[in-house]
Amino acid sequence: MDDLKFGTRNKRGDWAPTAVLEFAPFWYWPLNLTKLAKWLVGYVWPWNAFHMATALLYWNYVLPSQETMKTLSWGWALWLYAVNAAAIFVMYGSIELFYYVKRKQGTRFKYNGKFPSEQPSDVFWFKSQNLDNFLRSFFLSIPLWTLIEVFMLWRFANGLSLQLTWAEHPYYLALLTLIAPVIHEVHFFCIHRLIHTPFLYKWVHSVHHNSVNPSPWSSLSMHPVEGFAYHAVALWHLVIPSNPIVALFQLHVAGFGALNGHIGFDKLELTEDNTLDSHAYAHYLHHKYFEVNYGGDGVVPLDKWFGYWHDGSKEGEARMEARYARKVARANAKQNS
Ligand SMILES: [Zn+2]
Ligand SMILES: [Zn+2]
Repeated sequence: MDDLKFGTRNKRGDWAPTAVLEFAPFWYWPLNLTKLAKWLVGYVWPWNAFHMATALLYWNYVLPSQETMKTLSWGWALWLYAVNAAAIFVMYGSIELFYYVKRKQGTRFKYNGKFPSEQPSDVFWFKSQNLDNFLRSFFLSIPLWTLIEVFMLWRFANGLSLQLTWAEHPYYLALLTLIAPVIHEVHFFCIHRLIHTPFLYKWVHSVHHNSVNPSPWSSLSMHPVEGFAYHAVALWHLVIPSNPIVALFQLHVAGFGALNGHIGFDKLELTEDNTLDSHAYAHYLHHKYFEVNYGGDGVVPLDKWFGYWHDGSKEGEARMEARYARKVARANAKQNS
């Protein structure tokens, strides 16, 4: 597919979409119903539907019995770790394999014209972004994801949280499921903005930002403090009335959904004329410019409200430059006073 019909490529070989990023249509007036319908489909399909499907698969085939989960033990914790790690290996690994190793679509729709393996750097373990990202994901972030999962399931199994049943509260639980990605975006925005404060950035979040040109393995490549805080979004379901399936869905939106921002391609070509939207651009711009787009891709316009939004346009760029200039001026004024 010709990616230049959808965007432009600069001299360095970096591709950028022509269409600017937009928030969910219900934030614009007058409401455009066609856009809203299209957006709703994209909100559910395919990514959130996939996270729901994996949550149901876990519930029916992976989780041990309620009886077993009443007692904390290494047996079922390690089993859940193994399944989580295997699922991430297959999901993230297949995109790495086809689009980064075999490079089946070359650099078509690729934001950064280079591949991470072409740029060895001292900031990474073993000087390799791939190896560093992979090891951090499997030996730090996925164990922390599993720790949260085990704690959450153990609480539910022992009736220590306010657990509602689908039979008695179908509408509330359906609504909670529908807004789980919104909860994710708000939680992520808050912890993410927090770890961009100077001290936490230096000691915690810089690990994730070493990957300026992210690939799927970068998604969960985090310092353990971030790895815990990021997946802890599921713990909100121990505080509000909820249900373990919704909580599991919330956890999968975080764990499996971290992929989206780090795919590196705007569209993945599946067949000659079929593509899959990655929803990666907003977070790609975050990796490129650091202090823009702390949230997701615009279900809730938190970045706009706080002045951090970069929609990929020239105006977005100018707003960012002006903000950086003000920041430098403030720092200089402080130094001179
Ligand atoms: Zn990232
Ligand atoms: Zn960041």
